[in-house]
Amino acid sequence: MAKQVVRRRGQRQVEDVKGNRGPADLDVLQSLVTEMLLALGEKPGRNGLLKTPERVAKAFAFMTQGYHRDIDHLLNGALFPIEYDEMVIVKDIDFFSMCEHHLLPFYGRVHVGYLPNKKVVGLSKIPRIVDVFARRLQVQERLTVQIAETLKSKLNAHGVGVVVEARHLCMMMRGVEKQNTIAVSSSMLGVFRSQPQTRVEFLKLIRRGSVSDSD
Ligand SMILES: [Zn+2]
Repeated sequence: MAKQVVRRRGQRQVEDVKGNRGPADLDVLQSLVTEMLLALGEKPGRNGLLKTPERVAKAFAFMTQGYHRDIDHLLNGALFPIEYDEMVIVKDIDFFSMCEHHLLPFYGRVHVGYLPNKKVVGLSKIPRIVDVFARRLQVQERLTVQIAETLKSKLNAHGVGVVVEARHLCMMMRGVEKQNTIAVSSSMLGVFRSQPQTRVEFLKLIRRGSVSDSD
């Protein structure tokens, strides 16, 4: 059965001549979940598990939908010319992502700042950009860099800063089993990297009330 599943998946990938991944294949996912349940020693036919393969397939398709979102489409009509050269900050953006090493969630908050260069983006688009990259199999460091580089290039901003604070279930439920550990990653581009005072201002502005604050 496993071979059959793998072969079907291979065929679909070959069909895609543009090299784009199509939407998640729910049928393949479902049969793989059934096999996983069997491999775990479960009985996929028992009552509580009857619809589990379908539910898990749909959940994974949702949680990885970012692969199929197009940033340019998302930003279409949401970039505005403006003479404004102060820092723009959107902080405490909740996100949920999936660690690519264990397929377990990691989640937390993203803080974004940028220094505009004659162009700003509608504020509501920033959390949506975060989702595009969070809803994939990820590592926190890459998620951080992808958000920063996307904003830098699409806005042609003088600088961008992104800080991600996250809890990883693969650390909390297994491995080191540290429940209160928060992993922090940052990406500083342009003047956020070259000018210490810009970086310090950004970090000070996102600091107040952030999830890692003890007070
Ligand atoms: Zn992990």
